[in-house]
Amino acid sequence: MLNNIFNFVTSNIIDYIPEQIIDFFSRKYIAGPSLSDAIKATIDLNSKGIMSTIDVLGESVVNEDQTIFFRNECIKVLETIKKESLNANLSLKPTQMGLVINKALCYENIRKIVKRAKELDNFVRIDMENSPYTTDTLKMYRLLREEFPGHVGTVLQAYLRRTVDDIERLSDKPLNIRLCKGIYIEPYKIAYKNPQLINENYIYCLEKLFSKKAYVGIATHDEKLIFHAMRLIEKYNLKTNDYEFQMLMGIGDELRDFILSKKHRLRIYVPYGKEWLSYVRRRLKENPNIIMTALGIK
Ligand SMILES: Cc1cc2nc3c(=O)[nH]c(=O)nc-3n(C[C@H](O)[C@H](O)[C@H](O)COP(=O)(O)OP(=O)(O)OC[C@H]3O[C@@H](n4cnc5c(N)ncnc54)[C@H](O)[C@@H]3O)c2cc1C
Repeated sequence: MLNNIFNFVTSNIIDYIPEQIIDFFSRKYIAGPSLSDAIKATIDLNSKGIMSTIDVLGESVVNEDQTIFFRNECIKVLETIKKESLNANLSLKPTQMGLVINKALCYENIRKIVKRAKELDNFVRIDMENSPYTTDTLKMYRLLREEFPGHVGTVLQAYLRRTVDDIERLSDKPLNIRLCKGIYIEPYKIAYKNPQLINENYIYCLEKLFSKKAYVGIATHDEKLIFHAMRLIEKYNLKTNDYEFQMLMGIGDELRDFILSKKHRLRIYVPYGKEWLSYVRRRLKENPNIIMTALGIK
């Protein structure tokens, strides 16, 4: 009860906690300020048999030059992965590439990155942001998978009521989807709010994706979902290369070991960069218990 009250109060005041204090908690979730930090983290993960997806932190960009900066940085990530022979790919956010200001610019930026990924035999995952951007993100994914099949994927969120229909709509061609619960605050009208329903929809969507032979990044730290995913993998007789588990940096070390011990493939999301504030605030809102643990209260 006391814990629930603490979580409720904390998640509502996180936006007002000064940046210097949030910085203290950020270290757990991000590799560091520069690409070399993400590379170091990836080398460490690869040495443990874990793949990574590198994310350049930054979102809601409203300046065209800045979108070009992020585009070039993403291309640098892909080129460095190649140069260092790492087992890693790239994740990016549409609003980092200009979706807020200009859809055509955003598409062109992402297209250039995916084109480079194809040249380097790598892969780009387009993250899913909040609901005003869902339709445009899926449209871009559709176009890009047509031009660069096998080199691009996107994300679907189990909390959205539309997701089951999106799977149906998208499954006319081979699908590469990261399935997550969804992290943004969405209205009841379009999103499930009940955690149990979100979980049920997650399993429903996961089974639908498997039945449509999609490649799925099973992105969750929820043990119950991981349990069900493992049953579905068995049911559909999937090979190790037909799917992967995905987790975020800084969360669930014991779960990582469990997944690896069962011989499943695992990829860790490794964010780096100077624009870490929104990302870390979202993570802390999701789990304010971290603040208690770090302060030694729990
Ligand atoms: C690889 C990856 C990529 C993602 N990409 C997207 C995306 O593109 N769009 C999007 O909307 N969401 C994305 N998410 C976030 C996702 O939607 C969820 O918000 C997040 O994963 C928490 O949900 P969960 O499934 O882990 O279950 P939860 O029930 O939230 O968590 C299960 C357990 O995990 C641990 N845990 C969860 N969150 C935290 C935390 N912040 N700090 C410490 N422990 C924690 C706790 O022990 C918790 O009990 C991504 C998640 C992953 C793993």
